[in-house]
Amino acid sequence: VDEQKIIDFVRKSVSFQSPGVIMGIGDDTAVLKYDTRRYLLATTDTLVGDVHYLPDYFTPKQVGIKAIESNVSDIAAMGGVPTYAMISLILPRNTDKGFIQGLYSGIRMCSNKYKISIIGGNVSRGNQVSITTQMMGFVDKKNLCLREDAEIGDLICVTGMLGASKVGLELLKLKKLGKSINAFLNPKSNLQSAKKIAKYANAMEDISDGLATEIKNICKESKTGAKIYKNKIPIKKSAIKDSKILGKDPINFALYGGEDYEIVFTIPKKNVKYLEKRNCKIYILGKILPKKEGIFLMDDGRKTKLGSGYNHL
Ligand SMILES: [Mg+2]
Repeated sequence: VDEQKIIDFVRKSVSFQSPGVIMGIGDDTAVLKYDTRRYLLATTDTLVGDVHYLPDYFTPKQVGIKAIESNVSDIAAMGGVPTYAMISLILPRNTDKGFIQGLYSGIRMCSNKYKISIIGGNVSRGNQVSITTQMMGFVDKKNLCLREDAEIGDLICVTGMLGASKVGLELLKLKKLGKSINAFLNPKSNLQSAKKIAKYANAMEDISDGLATEIKNICKESKTGAKIYKNKIPIKKSAIKDSKILGKDPINFALYGGEDYEIVFTIPKKNVKYLEKRNCKIYILGKILPKKEGIFLMDDGRKTKLGSGYNHL
């Protein structure tokens, strides 16, 4: 089973029964009509057993924080601000009280930080721990940034350095140590930068499945191509250092690793100066092209193919 194929199937097999849907499946969140000034955003994400978090490595509190941060990241990627969340748990019969207390200390701490109200949820019994967060937020209509909004000629940028999260996961699996582990265990959304960028950007998306995949998503939805300069991709120092321990090229983690939760966005060149004025750190790494030119990586003046990223299934 391929994650993207399932999403494409679902997208084709559902239809909207009300005129309030501005954007359904196919972006970081759904976008719904709300009032004259704002749209309502809605998103959901599940952490399961050992697919997205490894109970041996994460504390219950860290799991709770990740459950909130990953959804905040999707709301941020629309140009919005999170407001409400619901948490649904599936817990095995033998789950101890300490796990639930720890989990909720993380959920509480992180949601307080963003002023998110937990307004409901559900608890069911099952064979494996599963935590589903549903989050809602609002975006000023003028700040909404959809994946389909990229324009030919836009610069492609990211809000931070990449690669550390996946390097950290690989270290943990091999029972090795390194600073990158911290990035994997303590993911943090970049809501602050996203808020500044939303006014000036065209398309935005958060980096949960890897930079390459997110850029391909933007190109697919906005019917464009893209050129990425390999030497301009910002790689976190700890990822470069720890990749040596793994004996691997850090660029692969930055491009295909995922769960860095920075924002990738496209912006008209003339708007970059406004971000500089607002002290918003960005890294320019490529350009949006006409669709017929394709999506490729520039490596030392040579065109190479952009591979595919992390698949959750
Ligand atoms: Mg996303």
